[in-house]
Amino acid sequence: MTHPVQPKASHFINGEYVEDTAGAAIPVIYPATGEVIATLHAATPAIVDQALDAAKAAQKEWAAMTGTERGRVLRRAADIMRERNHDLSVLETYDTGKPYQETSVVDATSGADALEYFGGLAGSLTGEHIALGGGDFAYTIREALGVCVGIGAWNYPTQIACWKGAPALACGNTMVFKPSESTPLCALKVAEIMIEAGAPKGVYNVVQGYGEVGAKLVTDPRVAKVSLTGSVPTGKKVYAAAAAEMKHVTMELGGKSPLIIFDDADLENAVSGAILANFYSTGQVCSNGTRVFVQGGIKDAFLKRLKERLDVGIKMGDPMDPEVNFGPMVNEKQLDIVKKYVALGQEEGARLVTGGGYPDKDGYWVEPVVFADVKDDMAIAREEIFGPVMSVLDFDTEEEVLARANDTEFGLAAGVFTSDLTRGHRVVAGFEAGTCFINTYNLAPVEAPFGGSKASGVGRENSKLAINHYSEMKMVYVSMNDVEAPF
Ligand code: NAD
Repeated sequence: MTHPVQPKASHFINGEYVEDTAGAAIPVIYPATGEVIATLHAATPAIVDQALDAAKAAQKEWAAMTGTERGRVLRRAADIMRERNHDLSVLETYDTGKPYQETSVVDATSGADALEYFGGLAGSLTGEHIALGGGDFAYTIREALGVCVGIGAWNYPTQIACWKGAPALACGNTMVFKPSESTPLCALKVAEIMIEAGAPKGVYNVVQGYGEVGAKLVTDPRVAKVSLTGSVPTGKKVYAAAAAEMKHVTMELGGKSPLIIFDDADLENAVSGAILANFYSTGQVCSNGTRVFVQGGIKDAFLKRLKERLDVGIKMGDPMDPEVNFGPMVNEKQLDIVKKYVALGQEEGARLVTGGGYPDKDGYWVEPVVFADVKDDMAIAREEIFGPVMSVLDFDTEEEVLARANDTEFGLAAGVFTSDLTRGHRVVAGFEAGTCFINTYNLAPVEAPFGGSKASGVGRENSKLAINHYSEMKMVYVSMNDVEAPF
């Protein structure tokens, strides 16, 4: 019998489901059990063409609608997503393995927030009037870029589809979105909901595929902009390919972010912050603060309380059970990466405080891991693991810890816990990171910009800033005077 999550077809193009079984098979595996719950197919060149043609054909008409009209579609889509939160959350759990306790309050809700926020902004997107000498003036017209390609990672498939789609569509662009091959289901629902909300056909399309399909989309001449959420190595390839064609980009990439806990921090809040920074979504969060620097005076109390809270608080099990708060890794490959680093951490001499076991059951399960006495040059402290592995490092002074925190190619996020407000602001001013937190961690409200510096990315998602990454300004100089020419 077909599993209920099996979609009608693999792709959603020009307002309808489309199939081409000639494309490579994409098995969808429920990470909690290892079962194949659906099979989709990667886009063939014909499917990629069809999607880009549909997006291109729809774009001018979509951009010609008023911002208020476009915004209305997005806000309706937000309402539909909220009404269907339960079903969308169940689907997100099947796609990713994240527990329903988490997906029911984070994924479709954060997607809906983006649709609502950019839907609200769409009617007030403007250029400006610039007074010049002698009565001359210039004005600017904010124009859509054209067809935008979105390429997603697997950790937040609904959210990523909306965080890219909402600002793109608000500005009058159309989108072809390629989800991660590991989590291909959720974006199809977003596309369906857009149509139901009144988006014209072709405005939001979804094609499936592995990296080759992504690569084909990036270099296609019909495409004006590429927004990728993924790893740094993929980001470098995609950025280079887009640059060769002078396309706009947004790059939301990986990290190895620092979280600094000073002696004067509130212990319970600091432990909560470190938990949020490492174990939500089973550690599969790009902005995670996986290098936790803890000052000498609070270190023992911090480690003791952290272990107590993890021992009592973590509930692994059926992700659909609302009591369960810790799911499996997304797939076998990611589980193997975690296993490799947990073994490496021990070999390198880090002290295992808790975790390190692998429940003996189907699916891709791992206990959350805390390492103490981690040194800056250990692989577990330098490389992104993208799993529930926290490294705790010791430090003495503010100056020293800031230098060590910044000593990384990444610059996605950074956080500090202290009760000294002046120090909190001074430390974040010194962080080389795009997304910083004082006395909390990993909050990403749509109203505030999100993104990384250094190797972690280019551009920002969310907030009014995202508008600049999905539109460009045309300048018009208007002369009110005779034209003076030298000869
Ligand atoms: P990945 O880089 O392997 O893949 C990301 C996407 O790129 C997938 O859809 C993949 O099919 C596609 N892709 C692969 N090669 C491509 C190519 N040559 N051209 C075009 N597309 C290509 O990443 P992943 O394993 O899916 O996700 C985990 C990574 O994503 C981690 O590094 C994580 O930190 C990062 N991430 C970043 C953010 C952020 O907002 N900064 C959010 C979530 C995840």
